[in-house]
Amino acid sequence: MAKWKWHAYDVPIPGYDTNTVNNLRLWQARATQEFNFKDFNSGNYLAAVENKNMSENISKVLYPNDTYIEGKYLRLKQQYFFVSASLQDIIRKYKITHPTFDQFAEKTAIQLNDTHPVIAIPELMRILLDQEHLTWDAAWSITTKTFSYTNHTVVPEALEEWPVRLLTQLLPRHMQIIFEINQRFLDNVRLKYNVTEDVIGNLSIIKEGPEQRVRMANLAIVGSHAINGVAALHTEILKTLIFPHFYSIFPEKFFNVTNGITQRRWLRAANPKTSEQINKAIGDGWIKDLTKIKKLEKFTGDAKFKEEWRANKLANKLALIEYIKGEHNVAVNPESIFDIQVKRFHEYKRQLLNVLHVITLYHKIKDDPTIDMVPRTVLFAGKAAPAYLQAKLVIKLINNVAHVINNDPDVKDKLKLLFLKNYSVTLAEKIIPAADLSEQISTAGFEASGTGNMKFALNGALTIGTMDGANVEMREEIGDDNIFIFGMLADEVLKLKNSNYNPREYYESIPQLKRVIDSIANNHFSRFEPGIFQILIDGLMNVDYYCLFADYLSYIECQEKVAETFRDKDAWTRKSILNVAHVAKFSSDRSIQDYAQLIWKVKPIKINIE
Ligand SMILES: *Cc1c(COP(=O)(O)O)cnc(C)c1O
Repeated sequence: MAKWKWHAYDVPIPGYDTNTVNNLRLWQARATQEFNFKDFNSGNYLAAVENKNMSENISKVLYPNDTYIEGKYLRLKQQYFFVSASLQDIIRKYKITHPTFDQFAEKTAIQLNDTHPVIAIPELMRILLDQEHLTWDAAWSITTKTFSYTNHTVVPEALEEWPVRLLTQLLPRHMQIIFEINQRFLDNVRLKYNVTEDVIGNLSIIKEGPEQRVRMANLAIVGSHAINGVAALHTEILKTLIFPHFYSIFPEKFFNVTNGITQRRWLRAANPKTSEQINKAIGDGWIKDLTKIKKLEKFTGDAKFKEEWRANKLANKLALIEYIKGEHNVAVNPESIFDIQVKRFHEYKRQLLNVLHVITLYHKIKDDPTIDMVPRTVLFAGKAAPAYLQAKLVIKLINNVAHVINNDPDVKDKLKLLFLKNYSVTLAEKIIPAADLSEQISTAGFEASGTGNMKFALNGALTIGTMDGANVEMREEIGDDNIFIFGMLADEVLKLKNSNYNPREYYESIPQLKRVIDSIANNHFSRFEPGIFQILIDGLMNVDYYCLFADYLSYIECQEKVAETFRDKDAWTRKSILNVAHVAKFSSDRSIQDYAQLIWKVKPIKINIE
C-alpha cells in the first residue's frame, strides 16, 4: 500500500517579451490517508497523524547544507521521490506520440544538476528493462544519450556517496542495476585500456572500505554522454585533479559551460535607476541581448554620463542605508566605500580573511585617530549550514568585532562593520546595486564559478578577488586595470600545501597580522565571552587549510590600492562603467546557449503568433 501519492504543481514561466510560456512542474508528496480513525478513537492522537506527517515530510524541506552532504535516509527518499515523478512524467508524455523508444534519446535531454538527481540513471534503466522490456544494451544506449551531468563543486565533503546498505534498503533493484553498470563499465575499461587496479579502484562507482559506498559523481559520469564544469578553471581542475582517470578514458565527454546570471533580474529589475540611464544612452537591446551592453564603453569620457552614474549609485546606497537604519538601527556614511561580501558562509570563501582586514584597519585608526583614511562600510550577509560550527563562529566574530568598532568614538565614520540578517535573493537585490566593492576572495582552486561575482560587476561594483572560479574569466573580459586581483594561484596553493605549509611563520614575520590574531585571541572582541574564538585561532595557527595567512599581505596591499583608487572619483567611475560594459559573457542567456549547442544539440525555433 502506497503511503503517499505525487501532486504536480505547474508554474508557468513566461520569460521576457516572448511568444511562448514554458511549464515548470514541481512535485509534492501527499499522504493517501489523512487520518487514522482507529488510533484517534483509541485516544492515540499523535499516532493518528503520524503516518500522514511521515509521508509528507518527503517533500517538506529543502536540505539547507551547501557544499556538505549528510547521509540522511530521508534525503535519499526525497531524491528518489522527485526523480521518479519527473521521469515517469517524461516517459508518459513521450509515449503519447511515440510507439517505441527508438527516438527517446533524440527527443529528450535530462541535465543532472549536481549529483542530487543521479539516482535517475538507474531509475531510467529500471523502467526500460523491467517495464518496457528493452535489452540491456538498448536501455544503456538510450540512458547515456539522454543524461548529462553538471559538476558544481570540488569540495570533497560535497561529493555525494550513499552507503550500499542504505540504497539496498530503500531501492534494492536500483542497487542491483548500479552493480551491473559498474561491472560492465570496469570490464570494458580492463579490456580496452592498460590500467592498474589502483586506477580501476578510482574509476569504480563502488568505493570499497569497511562500508561499501556508491560514488554518485562516478555513476553520473559513466551514465552520461557529457560532463561539464561551470567555469574554465573549474573544468581544468575536474580534468586534471578531480576526475583525471575519467578524463583520460573519456576526453570527449568533458565540456565547460561557464555559469551566468540573468540581466533581467540582476540589472533591469534590481537596479531600475542605472537601467534607465543605460536605456537612454544605448537603448534597451541589452535586456534581451547582453552583448549590446558593450556600447557603454563610449561613455567613459562623458562627464555628464559619469556624474549621473555616480548619482544613481549614491541613490542605491541611500536606499540600502534606509533599510539598514530600519532593520539594524545603525547609521552608515553614504560617502564611504560600500565593501560587500554576501554569500553562503564557508571556510573556503574566506569571510574570515575579510574580518582580518577590517581589524587591520581598526588598528590603523587606533594608532592615529586623525589619520586621513578613505571611509569604509564593510557589509556581510549569508547563511551558514546548521551545525557548521566554524562558519557560525565567523558570523559571531563579525557581530562582536562590529560591536567594538561601531561603538568606539575614535573610529567615527571612518569604518563601519555590519552583518545583515536573513540573506536571500530578495535581500541580494537590495544590497548588490549599492555596492562599490565586491569581495570574491576564496582560496584559489576552491570556488567552482561563483555567480555573486557576476551580479556585482553587472551593477558597476569593482571586484577584489583571487584567481578563482569565474573571477579568472571576469579579469579576462573586464581587463586587469579594472579589477583588483591578489593572492596565490590555484597551483601555488597546491604547491604550498604539499610543502609543509606552516602558518605560524607568517604570524611571526608579519607584525600587522600578529597583532590582529593576538587581539582576537586576547579577547579584545570577546571580553564577556573569553576564549569563544579560540577554535578559529587554533585552526589558523595550526593548519590554516584555506591559506588565509599566506594570502594576508597580498590582500591587505590590494585593499590599500582599492582605497587609493576610490579617492579618484573619476577613475573609479570609469572602471565601474567598464565593468558593466564588459560583463556580457556572464549572462545566463549565453550559458543556456552553450548547453543547447554543446550538450543538448538543440536549435532555437521562432514562434510567430498573430
Ligand atoms: C547569487 C547568490 C548566491 C551565490 O553567491 P556566490 O557569491 O556566487 O557564492 C548565493 N545566495 C544568494 C541569495 C544569491 O543571490
